Amino acid sequence: MSMQSARIHISGIVQGVGFRPFVYNLATRLGLRGWVRNTSAGVDIEVDGEHDVLVAFIHAVRSEAPALSHIEELTSSFGGAHGFRSFEIIHSESLDSAFQPISPDVAVCDDCLRELFDPSDRRYHYPFINCTNCGPRFTIIKDIPYDRPQTTMAPFAMCQDCEREYTDPSNRRFHAQPVACPSCGPRVWLERQGTQRAAEADAIQQTRQLLAQGQIVAIKGLGGFHLACDATRAGPVAELRARKLRVDKPFALMMPDLETIERHCFVSRTERELLVSSARPIVLLRRKMESNIAEQVAPHQDWLGVMLPYTPLHYLLLEGADDFPQALVMTSGNLSEEPIATDNEEARQGLSSLADVFLMHDRDIHVRCDDSVVRVLEKEIYPLRRSRGYAPFPVKLPWEAPPLLAAGPELKNTFCITNRNYAFLSHHIGDLENYETLRSLEQGVEHFERLFRVRPEAIAYDLHPNYLATRYALERAARENLPAFGIQHHHAHIAACMAEHGLDGSQPVIGLSFDGTGYGEDGAIWGGEFLVADYRSYQRPFHLAYFPLPGGDASIRKPARTALALLWSLGLGWEGSLPPVVEFQEEERQLLRAQLEKRINTPMTSSLGRLFDAAAALAGVRQAVNYEGQAAIEFEALADPDEAGIYSFELEQDQVNVGSGIASLLGDVRAGIPASKISARFHNGLAEMIQTTIRKMNRDTGIRRVALSGGVWQNLTLIGRTLSLLRADGFTVYLHRQVPTNDGGLALGQAIIAASRLRG
Ligand code: ZN
Ligand code: ZN
Ligand code: FE
Repeated sequence: MSMQSARIHISGIVQGVGFRPFVYNLATRLGLRGWVRNTSAGVDIEVDGEHDVLVAFIHAVRSEAPALSHIEELTSSFGGAHGFRSFEIIHSESLDSAFQPISPDVAVCDDCLRELFDPSDRRYHYPFINCTNCGPRFTIIKDIPYDRPQTTMAPFAMCQDCEREYTDPSNRRFHAQPVACPSCGPRVWLERQGTQRAAEADAIQQTRQLLAQGQIVAIKGLGGFHLACDATRAGPVAELRARKLRVDKPFALMMPDLETIERHCFVSRTERELLVSSARPIVLLRRKMESNIAEQVAPHQDWLGVMLPYTPLHYLLLEGADDFPQALVMTSGNLSEEPIATDNEEARQGLSSLADVFLMHDRDIHVRCDDSVVRVLEKEIYPLRRSRGYAPFPVKLPWEAPPLLAAGPELKNTFCITNRNYAFLSHHIGDLENYETLRSLEQGVEHFERLFRVRPEAIAYDLHPNYLATRYALERAARENLPAFGIQHHHAHIAACMAEHGLDGSQPVIGLSFDGTGYGEDGAIWGGEFLVADYRSYQRPFHLAYFPLPGGDASIRKPARTALALLWSLGLGWEGSLPPVVEFQEEERQLLRAQLEKRINTPMTSSLGRLFDAAAALAGVRQAVNYEGQAAIEFEALADPDEAGIYSFELEQDQVNVGSGIASLLGDVRAGIPASKISARFHNGLAEMIQTTIRKMNRDTGIRRVALSGGVWQNLTLIGRTLSLLRADGFTVYLHRQVPTNDGGLALGQAIIAASRLRG
């Protein structure tokens, strides 16, 4: 048999996942000679061998690829043999224009965990143990190709033992870039008021004792600092709330293992799979009555956000003991809405009033990355925040997009960069309400453009003129003389849902864009929108009837105001006994009435989120909120699943008129009907109204595909009822599965709409 050579190029997630060692071992096993290397475009292989063996090799590269890898494309070509004498891993090549996906961070693997708790292992209890299959990735990578000098591990020179593992192709740490051990790698220490109090094992032991005593500890993690305390005691949790200026918004929890989680929460099979997955997101789970988690962790809610440990340090901190708490609050280390702290000095300054002590380490975090949050809907993932463990894994687009940047929304900001078939949706940036978060957006964009070798040819932005992301986008477009595309918020929501399902946009869909807010083309605040949309454009055949929102943000913070404004606009009186009426003094009501009559600082809205606020206030559930969506969340939590009653909302011309439905709701409030029934009837009424409207839209257009997007669809009760009605009518319904239905997924929609317009 004559010798040939094969040249193979592989793209996808193939770096930082043990791909080159895998190729090395495979080639050696088959007796092939040649080389493998990383490039900034993926992995290149060149091998000599007999034709049949080369074919078998290529087949095995696909079929036996490492578990964490994801081969997007594999191309091969054959030529004459080169006469290689051995198989080698050769130096990485940086190609200027090339780009490739980068692995998200990966939770510590089982092999490393076994070593972590094996007293005879040289990494016994070493908090930074990792291997080719696990450990930090995205958060430590400064540039590609992914090699140690391009990561925040660069300052740590490997010891001889680590070096031997790193260069031994048969070792499971062969070319594991963050490889480290107690003698050469990062360390932990405990400090109080800037002074080191303990180091290494002592630091971890003391941290455990302090947590058990009820103290609040800032703990440096993978993508930033957490603030931790005992979640089973009311005192520390309340203290943490007071210091963080966070009144009711739920805290996330970390529990040591699945058994513990199941003592506190109901866990389905899909939820279990998500909890233990290498992304280790926070999963929203239904709380058990007997759980002793402090009420203040998630006030007025029957869901708890829970995650398992995901770094070796977490495992050491939570390792079982009778006198240690079963659950820790693990909330992001920041003051109110600022970005999560990542470096040690930033934490010392920013968190000094929040934490009693700091558990620090000296491995730098290059990219700030918050924990991801997911829930399960119909046995599948339903993302609420897509960040650590998922970002920057790309969303595959239905067609090739030019390189462009979508700046994203104001709240729950993520941005998106496209190149060819990929949309790189960023990690969670946060609410762009301050300079720090805007800086975080700018730095994130710079980093993505470098990592993915993209120079945007156009910029997409939200139509809201005052969003910081919009201003950033317009300034940059002007500076670099780039075309800029203003994208309507609710159109972007629907496009995001279409894009992640791979719809090519040649057929329009019916889009239900139900949301808290979003700037409309007419200057009103939209959010109850029935759209017919493709990527290029949209129509808006129906929307929720406008009602006034006196004071804008003032009403958003105080649903009681929204409720009174809604009653006023429907010609319904402010009866003395109604909960939102009682909320105000007589003079305040007179002022409010004057404001409504004269239309002072009173935008009009079609937002379904605000209608939920008003209904929650009228039902006596909540008159003022301290986090976004609170009234609707608490109102939904009360809904009686067995209640079949209904409020009717009527379709009049191009609007959904809520007058008669709200009048029925008021009747129930007056009659003393419990809020659980009122909530259920409200949800039932909305679902029926949706069905009626969709039927009409289908008669007018013939469209049978319906996309659901926008923050209101975080409401599982509304989804459940809507889905069963729409499916009974034979519609195909698309829900978000890869990116959040809230504004965290918006940038994907902005990007694909702009790409579509740019293509002409
Ligand atoms: Zn490992
Ligand atoms: Zn070492
Ligand atoms: Fe939105």
